Amino acid sequence: MTEISYRLPQQRVLQTELPGPRSQELAARRKAAVAAGVGSTAPVYAADADGGVIVDVDGNSLIDLAAGIAVTNVGASHPKVVAAIRDQAERFTHTCFMVTPYEGYVEVCERLAAVTPGDHEKRSVLFNSGAEAVENAIKVARLATGRPAVVAFDHAYHGRTNLTMALTAKAMPYKANFGPFAPEVYRMPMSYPFRDGDRDGAAAAREAISRIEKQIGATSVAAIIIEPIQGEGGFIVPAPGFLPALADWARSNGVVFIADEVQTGFARTGAWFACDHEGVVPDIVTMAKGIAGGMPLSAITGRADLMDAVHAGGLGGTYGGNPVACAAALAAIDAIDELDLNARARRIEELATARFRELAQRIPAIGDIRGRGAMLALEFVKPGTSEPDAALTSAVAARCLAQGVITLTCGTFGNVIRLLPPLVIGEDLLDEALTVLCTAIGDLAG
Ligand SMILES: *Cc1c(COP(=O)(O)O)cnc(C)c1O
Repeated sequence: MTEISYRLPQQRVLQTELPGPRSQELAARRKAAVAAGVGSTAPVYAADADGGVIVDVDGNSLIDLAAGIAVTNVGASHPKVVAAIRDQAERFTHTCFMVTPYEGYVEVCERLAAVTPGDHEKRSVLFNSGAEAVENAIKVARLATGRPAVVAFDHAYHGRTNLTMALTAKAMPYKANFGPFAPEVYRMPMSYPFRDGDRDGAAAAREAISRIEKQIGATSVAAIIIEPIQGEGGFIVPAPGFLPALADWARSNGVVFIADEVQTGFARTGAWFACDHEGVVPDIVTMAKGIAGGMPLSAITGRADLMDAVHAGGLGGTYGGNPVACAAALAAIDAIDELDLNARARRIEELATARFRELAQRIPAIGDIRGRGAMLALEFVKPGTSEPDAALTSAVAARCLAQGVITLTCGTFGNVIRLLPPLVIGEDLLDEALTVLCTAIGDLAG
């Protein structure tokens, strides 16, 4: 595998208790200036980040198992991404593609057509956030089909804007008291192998399809939107056959199949897109997070006939496809190729799951180990049951943070620890982080 050189020492160093004094000062300033509705996982303020580490304002060096929620797949300051940003910013930061277009936008769309699943003719549009990409995928599907209904799933997460809140499943913290929500969104059961007993992927798909047909009627459905591996909902990998059966049904019924690959895309799962693992070819793919090495950029790429059905001026936005973000995306996509980050993601899976399997033999609170590539999760339960243990989960995350390892929790029941390291993390550093995590689990659940 290509050797990666780093700017910052790849080590875990704690100079102070966490959060340190400078972070505490900033927390006090923040309280008086930043709205309370914005949360932060780790109350340590970042000063520098590279490879698998984040250095805080007190000089502590923490191991990053979050990658800013699956964004900095190539690292938070990949030298080529930084150079591309600097070079573009020196020329122009903005003209607006809808006013005076530029090459970078076109080139990003060409690259997306090449890397997304399927070799059919494709068109793309660029936006700023994942939620905006999802909104626009639904706009295209409704316009192209002339139908109103949209199908989403249990445990889904698609964003925080009004339509995407409606698509998102979990009330707290995402939806509670923020309604009313956009209409014509229908929620169907998800395939969740750990909680499905002996229901396999085909049976789960049959159930969802039968409900769609009975409760909505196929001819009213514009789109099915699904995360091929659910993110915030708990890193749920549907049983084999579930996604292909839904995609087949959609194709036979003139329904647009939208894969929300905002979290799973760009080598995160050991393939360019999570749909690739089962050979599923979506009609439209939504992308954001890992697309541009940390710069805000999102995209939808879809079948040319669907995308070109929209009248000129129907899609866009002032900042969508910002030239600096496009330059960063082109560099990040090159880096994914050059460093073979798909292979690195698979290696991360191999190393971490071996550790977790061994640990699970003596820790019955580990109910499930799942995920793909560098998108891995542990679901915690009360031993001998499938009852979620959210308290243990947050205790494990807090213990890791106190030891200088940043992890995230997720799941409808708040009982899942998820790992999303930068794909450029070194094996020794990853190993150290896994030791901290496994020790915390052993201490708190053993
Ligand atoms: C994060 C996420 C979104 C929303 O992206 P934002 O950039 O936060 O708006 C949508 N879908 C999925 C699957 C996500 O993980």
